[in-house]
Amino acid sequence: MSDERRIFNFSAGPATLPLPVLEEARRDGILLPGEGASVYEISHRSARFQSILDDTVATIRELLQLPDRYHVLFLAGGASLQFSMVAMNLLRDTNRTANYVLTGSWGKKARREAEREGKVDVVWDGASENYARVPTEDEWRASDDAAYVHVTSNETIEGVQFSEVPDAGAIPLVCDASSEFLSRPIDVDRYALIYAGAQKNLGPAGVTLVILRDDLTEGIPEGLPSMLDYRTWVKSGSLYNTPPVFAIYMTGLVARWIRDDVGGLEAMAKRNRAKAERLYEAIDASDGFYRGHAHPESRSKMNVTFRLQDADLESAFVADAAQRGLAGLKGHRSVGGIRASVYNAMEPAGVDELVAFMNEFRLARQPA
Ligand SMILES: *Cc1c(COP(=O)(O)O)cnc(C)c1O
Repeated sequence: MSDERRIFNFSAGPATLPLPVLEEARRDGILLPGEGASVYEISHRSARFQSILDDTVATIRELLQLPDRYHVLFLAGGASLQFSMVAMNLLRDTNRTANYVLTGSWGKKARREAEREGKVDVVWDGASENYARVPTEDEWRASDDAAYVHVTSNETIEGVQFSEVPDAGAIPLVCDASSEFLSRPIDVDRYALIYAGAQKNLGPAGVTLVILRDDLTEGIPEGLPSMLDYRTWVKSGSLYNTPPVFAIYMTGLVARWIRDDVGGLEAMAKRNRAKAERLYEAIDASDGFYRGHAHPESRSKMNVTFRLQDADLESAFVADAAQRGLAGLKGHRSVGGIRASVYNAMEPAGVDELVAFMNEFRLARQPA
């Protein structure tokens, strides 16, 4: 082993993972106790993998206090495949419209895929304000006959997040929660379907979590490819074909870390809130040297986005930070600026370091 140090990784995804989880995975990556083989090498049909899968589902159910009528499914294809699957399963052949609330880049992508399957109404679009906020309750309304309403609870690129569950009335609410899943308690009852790619907050890339309310399976059209029909995954318990075994295993370790080491979703939310607040305070106290992108009431607790005077100064900021072991701070290529992703596994100490760096950089560069 080299003595190279682990950086503080502020990347948006794949993202930082809890060190105790990585250590356990390293051990099981050689020999899973009692198996004589590693977690990479055991059959997905083995009793051991079944118990890993069952434990993972049970821990997630426990964290979310998930009612029985919801299924927990593990799929491949990323959150991006869910953009299509949601619309194939819930919109195709319905003669209804799907409602999309657009608060940023991922919602726009989801909408584009839905348009291939049926009629889409954009019921709110933050484009004219550069996706700097989420709508208030009275700014949009679901259409009466909508097949579903789709929202992105945290827009990873712009750094805007709903603080309350958007109100879709009686219409099924579908949520892309990729970049905030298990970062705070959620009122699951208000949702019909929640999906999340694992690589932001849950584990390594390769698996997508889908929480599906059972009654939604009734309206799925016949004739979808088996792999793209939610019923296939419900019936097979996520074992229709070879699942991403390692990613599911890691997701289970992360869920247990949240429950046992952090103390559950309330404690997780408290820790995340404190981290984000420290960064926003540093931005707000900078006399305009750092300028937050999101309106204060829509600020994300997961992705803190801000700008400096110009692109050159932003490049210097990213480079100097990297020198200090603060990595992955460059904003998404589509919007520029700086983005600090402070997901569940980002240690408060990493945020302390970043805040200290931000203050030093400002003092060195701010015109007197
Ligand atoms: C990263 C991300 C996606 C895309 O995830 P993939 O797993 O790469 O398809 C979708 N939605 C949100 C909110 C994301 O943050």
